[in-house]
Amino acid sequence: MRYIIGNWKSNQNLTESLIWLDDMISLVPRLPSDIQVILCLPFTDIASFNEKLAETNYPLSTGAQNVSHLPPGKHTGEITAMMLRELVSFCLVGHSERRRDFGETCEEVAQKAKSLLENSVTPIVCLDQPYLDEQIKTLFQFDVDVKRCFFVYEPFSAIGTGKPVDPVAANHIAHQVDFLIDANVPILYGGSVTADNAPDFVRQNQIDGLLVGTDSLRPSLFAAIINSLQ
Ligand code: PEP
Repeated sequence: MRYIIGNWKSNQNLTESLIWLDDMISLVPRLPSDIQVILCLPFTDIASFNEKLAETNYPLSTGAQNVSHLPPGKHTGEITAMMLRELVSFCLVGHSERRRDFGETCEEVAQKAKSLLENSVTPIVCLDQPYLDEQIKTLFQFDVDVKRCFFVYEPFSAIGTGKPVDPVAANHIAHQVDFLIDANVPILYGGSVTADNAPDFVRQNQIDGLLVGTDSLRPSLFAAIINSLQ
């Protein structure tokens, strides 16, 4: 199985998200059975997007882009894993933009992953070299069941810059993650993925799929990435 995960970040309101889905269904009426496509949307879009997915029977999975590291309680504005469990099967944690803009730590990322797993949501743990070892070590310290997580190597220099890293170098890091996790889990690459370079990444023996930011926003570009892998 291959995985293509879209990350819309803070883009697309509800109306736009439903138009995106209509366009996607007309561009790729049948998603390939050997590729699981997961879309990580803003919280505000998820419920209605899911309803439309159910009406259309379109086999795309939805994910969130963040979750609170805190349990349910007096934390105004926080979205907990318990709330997400009714809405999504996946959730990104530890994206480098959150570390940079919100000072997210390896401990918070581990708490998020743990609370997602307690609520049957699969954490998609984003990693970059400066904190890769520390993040994985912290997951083990917090008793996170890493066998139930996805991992993505996302070099910061490649995110949104149009400058992907060399696929062979990305594969090397994916092997390092595989070694540290020591379990058969999906390991993906993310950073300036396009339909032109996608096949070069998934051709690598340790890369199971792709996390796509910019090119997930336009259905034609996202569809082209999916089609490029067939
Ligand atoms: C991302 O931020 O998760 C990402 C991969 O972005 P982009 O595809 O725009 O580099």
